[in-house]
Amino acid sequence: MCGVVGIYNHPEASRIAYLGLYALQHRGQEAAGIVSSDGGKLRTHRRMGLVGDIFNQKVLDNLKGSAAIGHVRYSTSGASAAKNIQPLVFDYAHGAISVSHNGNLVNAKKLRAEFEAHGSIFQSTTDTEILVHLLASAKESTFEERVVEALKKVEGAYSLVFLTETKMLAARDPLGFRPLLLGDLNGSPIVVSESCALDLVEASFVREIEPGEIVVFSKEGTKSFKPFDQAKKKAFCIFEHVYFARPDSHIFGREVYETRKGFGRALAQEHPVEADMVVPIPDSGVPAALGYSEASGIPFQMGLIRNHYVGRTFIEPTDQIRHFGVKVKLNPAKELVKGKRLILVDDSIVRGTTSRKIVDMLREAGAKEIHFRVSSPPTTWPCFFGIDTPDRKQLIAAQQTLEEMRQFITADSLAFLSVENLFYFQKNHGEWFCDACFSGKFPVPLADFPDVNKVQDLKN
Ligand code: AMP
Repeated sequence: MCGVVGIYNHPEASRIAYLGLYALQHRGQEAAGIVSSDGGKLRTHRRMGLVGDIFNQKVLDNLKGSAAIGHVRYSTSGASAAKNIQPLVFDYAHGAISVSHNGNLVNAKKLRAEFEAHGSIFQSTTDTEILVHLLASAKESTFEERVVEALKKVEGAYSLVFLTETKMLAARDPLGFRPLLLGDLNGSPIVVSESCALDLVEASFVREIEPGEIVVFSKEGTKSFKPFDQAKKKAFCIFEHVYFARPDSHIFGREVYETRKGFGRALAQEHPVEADMVVPIPDSGVPAALGYSEASGIPFQMGLIRNHYVGRTFIEPTDQIRHFGVKVKLNPAKELVKGKRLILVDDSIVRGTTSRKIVDMLREAGAKEIHFRVSSPPTTWPCFFGIDTPDRKQLIAAQQTLEEMRQFITADSLAFLSVENLFYFQKNHGEWFCDACFSGKFPVPLADFPDVNKVQDLKN
């Protein structure tokens, strides 16, 4: 998962991009970068680390120009390494170009092997670099046409922002896996992954960039077109609403906070249990716990307190750090939970290791009963479209029955939201969403992952 931002025709473009990235930091904490254009030259600053640590006044002063794009990264495709930090920047026959990508391509490996067989040299291990090679080898005469030519060859998820010396271009894949929004900052167009970034820079929300839409920003103004065959069904990522996006964001036409509260309300109706209090696992479980409390009439209590100076622990790429992280991050409010029956609410169970540690901590603090409620269905499949999930062997719900999982996390009861209720807000039950992490129904063929297709065929 990653976050992207782009601003065009603004006197402080790199500072706006910086603030935008600050608001999108939850989408990736591994690395960040900004590329600016002053009309003749691209300037770059990219580093491993957090936005607040990477940039300072001097760096931003050097990122001159009235257009800038930025990126926050957490590695999905490609190792966590400096060479993979985005925006990628390269020179080709038509000048300099830079690109920020959110999403994951599912035929990039196949295309890369074809290029390499013809002698191409790749500098990074990210799927995004394939776009660079496709652009460089494109035959069309204008920049926008070359982008379309390149994008027609890739499959999977992409919300992209390109920057050349003179133009900015935003593109969203035809199924619209990842969000991408268009805003307006006193007449300057701005493109962001989530609306919380528009709020921070005080830009107004114009609209979501549509699936399959390409928007070009140039001196001549803004031009939009849809060069792809329009798929009837879309594949908005439901996990953005479950976990990934910030709750104050408005994406895929809905406020994330309201959706998550709805998950909690539905969960309370589907899996009621007698208890003294509803306790969220902060921050990810908070809106759903509020919804559960509202629908059940059981009081909401912050039985777990979070240290806010620790990043999302799951995101740390090594197991050791992740495990240590749970205790660093959360601590029970002991007197509150002592002797009490708790309904513990989280948005998802992935490996189950965090959940187990939290249940342990609450028992040590004296909780009498712990009823674990999850505001999404069991995560049984990895994501190939940009969410960093482990393979099936490590997904507890893919390996164990509900009862085995309950025993593993040592809860008194365990229940998940059903796929039907995941789409409680939609009459057509998820027709517009990708729910492959819960259903195994992948919306596009996975050329780079033939083994998954095999497993899927066997299952059907
Ligand atoms: P575990 O079941 O121990 O793997 O951890 C589940 C926790 O990880 C839940 O609190 C989720 O909010 C969080 N989580 C779920 N998916 C992701 C993800 N892709 N990246 C980071 N955190 C996640």
